[in-house]
Amino acid sequence: MDIDTLSEKIVAGDRRALSRAITLIESSRADHRDQAAQLMERLKGAGRQAIRIGLSGTPGVGKSTFIESFGKMLTGQGLRVAVLAVDPSSARSGGSILGDKTRMEELSRDPNAFIRPSPSQSHLGGVARRTREAVAVCEAAGFDVVLIETVGVGQSETVVAEMSDLFILLIAPAGGDELQGVKRGIMEIADIILINKADGDLKPAATRTCSDYSGALRLLRKRPQDPQGFPKAMMVSALERDGLQKSWEEMTALTEWRKENGHFASRREAQARYWFEQEVRQGLLAKLDTPSAREAMQSFAAKVAEGGITPTVAAQELLQGLRD
Ligand code: GDP
Repeated sequence: MDIDTLSEKIVAGDRRALSRAITLIESSRADHRDQAAQLMERLKGAGRQAIRIGLSGTPGVGKSTFIESFGKMLTGQGLRVAVLAVDPSSARSGGSILGDKTRMEELSRDPNAFIRPSPSQSHLGGVARRTREAVAVCEAAGFDVVLIETVGVGQSETVVAEMSDLFILLIAPAGGDELQGVKRGIMEIADIILINKADGDLKPAATRTCSDYSGALRLLRKRPQDPQGFPKAMMVSALERDGLQKSWEEMTALTEWRKENGHFASRREAQARYWFEQEVRQGLLAKLDTPSAREAMQSFAAKVAEGGITPTVAAQELLQGLRD
């Protein structure tokens, strides 16, 4: 199928075309990369805009339960929901989050939902590009909400926050020193913290955890992109489907406010700049990852070690050589 036809079908809502496009995006073959780049250019003009919601939390906190319940609630309201993932562990384990077919069983059968596991790639950078492009394809395909899930480890939250309009952190109720487990940096990028499992025996602990996080969020520096009361912490039960509508109302209220005040557009502009710079950096690094570049690196390194040339001059000469 040529790229024009593929693009038209995606915009017309053809799910097979959508899956096919994402497979193309995930391919590392050079000709596929070129086609994917052409496709992204075509789809750019579709002029559709979803709410992109990043969602993070440690394993076991209830991410898949939440996505299943929250996703079903949204599709029940006539919204179309896409679920994508950035999984930093997939490179190591070969498996991936969302890869397990038993997760989100109901949602995966829903005609108004589209679920795609994380691509397995060796670099977080590679996964980031593919997920970011998949987000754009889903948006062009007319999805109203794109959820981007990640496990709360390492840098993956930052990567997801850089491709989301809203960033949601899922936390489990805890006793004792609740805030210890969450890095300050993650708190700073969260727009809404959801204390999950606020049900049954866990309800009192959830209430305490929620009040602790509310307190901690109030101490953070005020951000220009936040209206009064944000970022905020609130309780939900993904299992009992409690608090989900309220959380969605908060998400839409925040999004509306940001749209009215120019912050929505400026965040996307800043993200486009960020990803452009990342692509340039990665492109330069890829130039070092060729057999001839590695050979040159070794031979310069040997000369530097022998004292025949200074590190600075050696680096300049090597980089000069790469440019040709
Ligand atoms: P993930 O690893 O973050 O995707 O977490 P899962 O969605 O797989 O959930 C981990 C465990 O927590 C499962 O046993 C769920 O049934 C349970 N769980 C998830 N959400 C809730 C909730 O709202 N309340 C309670 N009590 N348990 C939950």
